[in-house]
Amino acid sequence: MNHASDQSTTTSQRKNSTMCQHQPPCPSADSADREAAHLVAHHPEQGWSLLCNGVLLFEDTGELLPDGQVVAPHRPLGAGHVTAAA
Ligand SMILES: [Zn+2]
Repeated sequence: MNHASDQSTTTSQRKNSTMCQHQPPCPSADSADREAAHLVAHHPEQGWSLLCNGVLLFEDTGELLPDGQVVAPHRPLGAGHVTAAA
């Protein structure tokens, strides 16, 4: 699949979202290692964290990638397992 044309791109904001100034650089959002990126914002009371590479990481291990792609939770929650209603 190709990138969908981005209608919200502004002239002042480039599509390249790499703002990482860490050494070594954090893994990119499309890397399998993306969760290893540094936290730049952490809001446990709201249940999410923002990683350096632009990935929003939710406490249920779901993710929202910078390109809008949603990654379903992929780790068992353990106690308090919630089953979606059929
Ligand atoms: Zn970084």
